Amino acid sequence: MSETTQLRVDGKRLWESIMAIGEIGPGQHGGSCRLALTDEDRDGRDLFIRWCEEIGCSITVDDMGNIFARRDGRNNDLAPIVAGSHLDTQPHGGKFDGIYGVLAALEAVRTLHDNDVSTAAPVEIVVWTNEEGSRFAPAMISSGVYAGLFEKDYAWAITDSDGKSLGDELKRIGYMGAASCGSNPIGALLEAHIEQGPILEADDQQIGVVVGGQGQHWYDVTLKGQDSHAGSTPMPGRRDALVAAAEIITMVQTLALEFAPQAVSTVGEMSVMPNSRNTIPGEVFFTIDIRNPDENVLAQMAAQLEARVAAIAEKHGVECKLDEIWDKAPVKFDPDCIAAVAEATSSLGYSNQQMVSGAGHDACQICLVAPTSMIFVPCAGGLSHNEQESAEPADLEAGCNVLLHAMLKLANRANA
Ligand SMILES: [Zn+2]
Repeated sequence: MSETTQLRVDGKRLWESIMAIGEIGPGQHGGSCRLALTDEDRDGRDLFIRWCEEIGCSITVDDMGNIFARRDGRNNDLAPIVAGSHLDTQPHGGKFDGIYGVLAALEAVRTLHDNDVSTAAPVEIVVWTNEEGSRFAPAMISSGVYAGLFEKDYAWAITDSDGKSLGDELKRIGYMGAASCGSNPIGALLEAHIEQGPILEADDQQIGVVVGGQGQHWYDVTLKGQDSHAGSTPMPGRRDALVAAAEIITMVQTLALEFAPQAVSTVGEMSVMPNSRNTIPGEVFFTIDIRNPDENVLAQMAAQLEARVAAIAEKHGVECKLDEIWDKAPVKFDPDCIAAVAEATSSLGYSNQQMVSGAGHDACQICLVAPTSMIFVPCAGGLSHNEQESAEPADLEAGCNVLLHAMLKLANRANA
């Protein structure tokens, strides 16, 4: 067992595999367009499965199209140690978001195979269906079904903008598997991913040891004032819903700054009625998104937000409807999985820091039903969901080595 500490992945093979998948559904500007359950998604899956079969893995596809490629352990009664992510992309997606996590897991298992290393528990590589939520909303739908957050019938019935359902498209591309989603055990899940933010790069760290994910609240806001003539209505006494909205938007930004550095807040969508240059806007609709990794801080932010929105609306003489349409509690990853990642990182000698995921990931769903953690590597400028997304081969290799050794630790802990 001791010689496994010397094992290292093949960074060049990892890079070439990422580039090979990136050629399926190429984007116009160097990225990829491989929307969930399209022909391109099928071709990417087919190539992944071929690679897994070449190293003797057995393949199971469940009825949400999730793929599990299994390498047996010495004791196959143990729940497998699973690593992976997603192969689907945004319409103008990069080559690394999701793909890296799948192919890092593949490279880790290829390394075990090449070196004839056995593990106590089996190891599996997972591909989750429709993580991006771009063609079929919501995002992370299949890991959500696995975790019991969504009913399967609901997921199958979701349609794209052409009215095609997720279930029909799964069948059409041949990935409606026989296994029932959620029926296969996961002993632990590890997901490697590019950070999709600027922190590791700015701090000059190679590895992010991810301890959890942010919680968030989503609101719909409708302000009702009064439409009135832009020329003949004096400034005093106007009930201008857009001016009230402007003050609220500024307040939303200030709110996150007050809870710096971890709070974020965004107004991303707005419509103005009647949207005419010479009428005072009588009605405005907009959205608010607030996030924080700490449940108590998030609750404080929410309470402050609600009080301040009401006060601003009153000051401008507009009626306010603030609906919280969705909320998600912060997630905390499993201490043993975090420790496995942290120990692997320090024994390999990589610079690292603990961090919280700003984005949602399949791991943030699965952690509700199985021990989970994540490994982040830097990406250039923190840019993601963009064809210019890029990452350094050396960082990808480092993250993959961490994944390999964290998998070994977890797979051998049970009865090694
Ligand atoms: Zn992703």
